[in-house]
Amino acid sequence: MSSDDILILKRALVREKTARKQAEKILEDKSRELFLLTHELKGANEKLQDLIGKKELELQGVFDNLVDAYVLIDVYGNILEMNNAAKILFGYDITEEKINVMSLVYKEDYQYAMTSFQQLVSEGSFTDYQARVYTKNNGVRTVHINASLIKDKKNNSIRAQGIIRDITEELEQKQIFEEQKKQLSAIVENSSLGIALTQQDKILQCNKAFQDLLGYTQEELLSKEIKDVSLAIHNGSPAEFLQKMEKGEIDTFSMNQKYIRQDQSAFWAKTNVAAVRNPNGSIKYQVTLVEDITEQLEFEKQREKFVKDLEKTNNELKDYAHIVSHDLKSPLRNINALVNWIKEDYGDVLNTKGLNHFSMIETTLEKMETLINDILSYSSAGDKDNLNTKKIDLNSLVNDIKNIVLIPKTTSVNVLKKLPVIKGDVTRIQQLFQNLIGNAVIYMDKENGKVEIDYQDKNTHHLFIIRDNGIGIKEEYHNKIFKMFQSVGDNENSTGVGLAIVKKVVELYDGEIWLESTLGIGSTFYFTLKK
Ligand code: ADP
Repeated sequence: MSSDDILILKRALVREKTARKQAEKILEDKSRELFLLTHELKGANEKLQDLIGKKELELQGVFDNLVDAYVLIDVYGNILEMNNAAKILFGYDITEEKINVMSLVYKEDYQYAMTSFQQLVSEGSFTDYQARVYTKNNGVRTVHINASLIKDKKNNSIRAQGIIRDITEELEQKQIFEEQKKQLSAIVENSSLGIALTQQDKILQCNKAFQDLLGYTQEELLSKEIKDVSLAIHNGSPAEFLQKMEKGEIDTFSMNQKYIRQDQSAFWAKTNVAAVRNPNGSIKYQVTLVEDITEQLEFEKQREKFVKDLEKTNNELKDYAHIVSHDLKSPLRNINALVNWIKEDYGDVLNTKGLNHFSMIETTLEKMETLINDILSYSSAGDKDNLNTKKIDLNSLVNDIKNIVLIPKTTSVNVLKKLPVIKGDVTRIQQLFQNLIGNAVIYMDKENGKVEIDYQDKNTHHLFIIRDNGIGIKEEYHNKIFKMFQSVGDNENSTGVGLAIVKKVVELYDGEIWLESTLGIGSTFYFTLKK
């Protein structure tokens, strides 16, 4: 190799070295650029991943918090995702078990489900699908579903998603509401009350009874106003009431109104009107109830007449009892006087038998007088018109009675509790206590006779108890003895009027009387008087 060749070679080597260095430099630069780019790309990628992750989380949050259930399925119906609401609705957790939507379809709705699924496949979505589904615990819920297909870039269906709303309760409520509506309609339609919906005076709707009452058909009535079928107003004016109702001052009113039927006959009816308002308070319509009271009025008229007649008869009877008693008393006194004269004038002529007969006449006369007095007391006992109402201290009243009634030494009469001071008519109240205490003493057969008077405060009433250990009364007489002339046994002074007077006085003071008694053991009379 010549020196020139060597030189050329050397230069070539130098050039090559330089070129390589340059290439290395470029490679190094490019490599650094690539490194930086890769680094940047990696950063951007991470950010993107982060963002996707965040968005996914956000989306998950939305789905999880969705009130409605959300379900994502593959093309075979396998559930891939369920939000919280879906888990709660169906009771399944797909992280624990695999579920296919078809297994959730209620068996009777299967055909309908298939048709809807086909629609989803052919049209890409369906809305307002309503059917029943099974839940894990074998429950059945009614749901409403809107569903759509999810496709890939090549337009192939890969997923389907559905928003499911549980409408079981809503439907039940609706059914209950419909049922109640039906029941209400049936009640309204079959009611014997005439019922109409009115707006101011105009008839909007009415039931059969309303039509029957007035003798018009519904169509005829719908072109009428209440005033077209009604006449005079008995109490208050409907226009006035309606105005007040309009202003919101009243919500209901009631009045008696005379209605005219199609055949021009009239009837009185009680009319109740109630307002049904809009949320803003204005009147939507009125419910008008019409009740025919012709018979009721007639009945009331009759009743009033009956009460008047009864009052008249009662007064006549009272007067009659008074007159007869008074009129009977004077001949009795005359007989008594005559008997005394005969005894005085012819006493020494009469033999014992004759004298005995006269004393029997005297006893009978006494008994007759007692009876007449009792009848007089009875006829005035319940008379509200002649009451002399005063405060009565029952402790002193009972003390006085103890002195009036002849109490044998073998019988004790004791007051167990302090008696109240009441308001009442002294004569009546005295009759009441005297007859009961008197009976307890009279109908006593025990050696050691005990009569006790007790008291209990019963808020609205006073309760008095008169107890004895006397002869007692058979149960079959417990009601009878309060009736006039009902005496039991053979007491010769009996008139059978005492307890009838007692009952009348108790009822005069809005009280009640009853007894407990055992034959041979004793009797307890209870009575109340209104405070
Ligand atoms: P009278 O005493 O004049 O017969 P009453 O109306 O006072 O009339 O009583 C009706 C009857 O009730 C009496 O005949 C008597 O048989 C019975 N009777 C009333 N009080 C008592 C009593 N405390 N114990 C037993 N019998 C009684």
